[in-house]
Amino acid sequence: MAHFKPPNVAFTQMAGTGVFAELVGGDGEFKYYSDGEWKKSCSGKSVPIINPTTRETQFKVQACTKEEVNKVIDAAKTAQKSWAKTPLWKRAELLHKAAAILKEHRNPIAECLVKEIAKPAKDAVTEVVRSGDLVSYCAEEGVRILGEGKFLVSDSFPGNERTKYCLTSKIPLGVILAIPPFNYPVNLAVSKIGPALIAGNSLVLKPPTQGAVAALHMVHCFHLAGFPKGLISCVTGKGSEIGDFLTMHPGINCISFTGGDTGIAISKKAGMIPLQMELGGKDACIILEDADLDLAAANIVKGGFSYSGQRCTAVKVVLVMDSVADALVEKVKAKVVKLTVGPPEDDCDITPVVTESSANFIEGLVMDAKQKGATFCQEYKRAGNLIWPLLLDNVRPDMRIAWEEPFGPVLPVIRINSVEEGIHHCNASNFGLQGCVFTRDINKAILISDAMETGTVQINSAPARGPDHFPFQGLKDSGIGSQGITNSINMMTKIKTTVINLPTPSYTMG
Ligand code: NAP
Repeated sequence: MAHFKPPNVAFTQMAGTGVFAELVGGDGEFKYYSDGEWKKSCSGKSVPIINPTTRETQFKVQACTKEEVNKVIDAAKTAQKSWAKTPLWKRAELLHKAAAILKEHRNPIAECLVKEIAKPAKDAVTEVVRSGDLVSYCAEEGVRILGEGKFLVSDSFPGNERTKYCLTSKIPLGVILAIPPFNYPVNLAVSKIGPALIAGNSLVLKPPTQGAVAALHMVHCFHLAGFPKGLISCVTGKGSEIGDFLTMHPGINCISFTGGDTGIAISKKAGMIPLQMELGGKDACIILEDADLDLAAANIVKGGFSYSGQRCTAVKVVLVMDSVADALVEKVKAKVVKLTVGPPEDDCDITPVVTESSANFIEGLVMDAKQKGATFCQEYKRAGNLIWPLLLDNVRPDMRIAWEEPFGPVLPVIRINSVEEGIHHCNASNFGLQGCVFTRDINKAILISDAMETGTVQINSAPARGPDHFPFQGLKDSGIGSQGITNSINMMTKIKTTVINLPTPSYTMG
């Protein structure tokens, strides 16, 4: 396996070496993790991971078989039974340990993110550190909320005396299947692993193909922390090949998925199990006439172009009042010019998008807008998977980019003549993840927030998923359920009640 040293960021320990050496087979392929061990698949097949920057094969992972998936799920079932009997404080202790190991080894994991998904080097390190913090927070939050139950008495409901005491507690669901997307393969994996484990579940991870090696390194940190065999496992292979087998497997008791439309298909196929779906978005940014335009422009550029627009909560359409549109567009253009474009190792703002087919899709949206008369604020430029940042002004609703999620560094601006027009555009979308509004009038902001059919509205800031303990949810095609640490722990548990029946009513006296 060829290693290259990134020029500007010192990754002192390289991926697949040191404590991570056992992840790699003699042939240089990465193994999968089952029953507490790193294994080669019996399939004899591997899946190549193409570096988005070099467009050459960077790593290879195992193409796991259905039999191997069966074994992993059987082991997860067995391990969960004793894990559920492990005291909560001990579960928390192990999670804290895993978090510390993850943070200690942030560099080799970040190196994988740079090579597999072209994440800018500093952001890659930040993703790993944030993930460690998330795991620790899960441990702390779990200890609090799972350490409490409810006590109910029967005489509050008409017709009852106080003869029944009801005790409620939260119990694990069993085996959780976690499927994260390519853009945060570590953070969006631990956002499922942490809540699942603290709540007493076992977990099977199917990482995205681009990002699988970073995920395998992250899983090894849990291995090093000493979690019981089989409690956490990681099967690799293309989602299109093993995805259905995993999501329809009778041994799976809950699916937590983050990704695109694939989630809609999974929801239709999955059995009668709880689903947590965090899907795509077309986050609108509404700019009113009284907005602080400098603040809005800074947030539009950060929100629209960070990680080259490959974020579920990226600003994906700007809806600006016509009277301030010229001024806003000028300010945004001035900032777009300053974005650096190039390889992730150089920590550039704009790096190659994840695959060639993504780049082709983005180009299709740009060409459609061109043909229909959008104003190009910069020249459209592409080299391989690298697309230069592009602001498209005067976009109209008949253009695809007005509605579709480019997942790339291309941002449409639609000029509106009323707030109602902006809200109407936002609500006409199939998506409903987040949105934002810029105004100095808090009363208007609240009214607009209430009118926007999205899971979250940010006032005077770009949409964002974090901090990771905030509730995070999408309406319509953007998802099912709510994430965020507390919500995920609750989602991965069921309520169990025990009712004590008294022979005669008993009322506590003061
Ligand atoms: P994707 O194509 O839907 O893939 C997501 C995951 O599903 C990957 O691990 C993929 O594995 C797997 N998969 C593919 N086919 C499957 C199947 N039939 N059954 C089960 N799993 C299957 O999404 P992506 O391109 O990785 O990510 C981009 C999308 O994610 C965007 O739409 C973005 O908005 C969304 N996203 C949403 C959030 C949120 O929280 N709302 C956060 C981040 C991203 P392979 O890689 O092996 O195909």
